[in-house]
Amino acid sequence: MSPASSPANDRHCDLLLTGGAVVTVDEHHTIHPTGAVAVTGNRIVAVGSERDMADWRAPTVLDCRGRAVLPGFVDGHTHLYQALVRGLGEGLSIVPWLCEFMWPCSIAVTGEDAVAGARLAAVEAIRAGITTVVDNHYAPTGLSTTLAVAAAVEQSGLRGAVARGIVGERTPLAARRGQPEALFRYSAKEELDITRDAVRRRPPGSKVEIWPAPLNLTYVDQDLVRASAALAAELGTRWHTHCCEGGDDPRSYAETYGVRPVRWLAAEGLLDERATLAHAVWLDDEEITRVATAGAGIAHNPASNAYLASGTLRLRDLRDRGATVALGTDGPSCGHRQDMFECMKQAVFAQRLRTLDPTAARARDALEMATRDGARYAGIDAGVLAAGRLADLVVVDLERPHLRPLHDLESTLVYSARGSDVVVTIIDGEIVYQHGRCLRVDERAAVDEAQERAERLVARAGLHRPGTREAAARARG
Ligand SMILES: [Zn+2]
Repeated sequence: MSPASSPANDRHCDLLLTGGAVVTVDEHHTIHPTGAVAVTGNRIVAVGSERDMADWRAPTVLDCRGRAVLPGFVDGHTHLYQALVRGLGEGLSIVPWLCEFMWPCSIAVTGEDAVAGARLAAVEAIRAGITTVVDNHYAPTGLSTTLAVAAAVEQSGLRGAVARGIVGERTPLAARRGQPEALFRYSAKEELDITRDAVRRRPPGSKVEIWPAPLNLTYVDQDLVRASAALAAELGTRWHTHCCEGGDDPRSYAETYGVRPVRWLAAEGLLDERATLAHAVWLDDEEITRVATAGAGIAHNPASNAYLASGTLRLRDLRDRGATVALGTDGPSCGHRQDMFECMKQAVFAQRLRTLDPTAARARDALEMATRDGARYAGIDAGVLAAGRLADLVVVDLERPHLRPLHDLESTLVYSARGSDVVVTIIDGEIVYQHGRCLRVDERAAVDEAQERAERLVARAGLHRPGTREAAARARG
């Protein structure tokens, strides 16, 4: 027996993944073609080639031959409850989509509905290799529902934050844009009090945190945006908002307040690493520089931006200036799948179409945004396979016809793989998806409850479109 394989040299961990192509997404984009990852507790303790890791032993060993091991994906912006109305709201741009479809849905949805939708979308996300979500939850937003959604997300096994949507009283700009009065249920003080209570119950460091989320920079009162950001700073959380999603947002904001929204954030000192801005499609050169230098995060939602014809983020300019850009699905209603493979591919394609330059975004950019940059954006110590990082990782089956022959692993993962190619999802060191099922959730019950509640919601909110319910009934026989 050689000294290298002597039991005296054995090193022990809880969980060992061996034989797979280990895609670290570290700063050198190191890939171990036949590698191993060792996990103890909720942390990665070693990563390397299978040969270098030959001394590692574990009670649970996953043979990953023919598979890729990569960091779990971070969905930087989603609305999990919107799983209930997936597939409706077709053919609309953002403001009519909200006014004719999503606001009526948001007003009619109950707390129990929202939890059922979140549970279903969480299952979908985990099955597709998402390990962290920023769930911008905004209907309904009472303390009990906010906490129940966070509990459902955590119970599924996911890590992340429920960014509690804050709207306060209806502003003149919100009224002009057609936001219905019924959306505005709480005073500014009540919004802040509920959010403060919720954050205290799930403080920074919780597996699922609560963040303040003034819902949209354009139509939430400036004082309430300022107070929400101040609350985040006081309690040590990040905060979240929709920012310049539609082309009209900066224009109507400037007409109302005499300043563009991101310049206002900068002038107020609110642009720092706590600020996480969803979309940020319509930024000018100065705003891009300010967001990047301040260290604020952006969640780019390419599938949603295409679906609603919102526009295309200036990704190259943002990344060239060092901005932290994560990827997001924007939820099952305008992103349609909780699938970061789709987001990666769409992010690259959108840039190439926008610039007519095939180098404007590369597979490698997409992989970084979906993992390493997403983790930085969310403030979690994950996103890279390296010793010391949180053990959030996924295993992708490469032995599928659409992934063979295999020449360039990063390109194949970004352009050819899809969420359903994920075969194992590990979050916080725990296997939460394996052998085709989520281990912490009764998937059948989650699907059935969501279907039942969704049908009642659609009828109650008048979202019915010819064919939808009947088609679902026919499909069920
Ligand atoms: Zn959104």
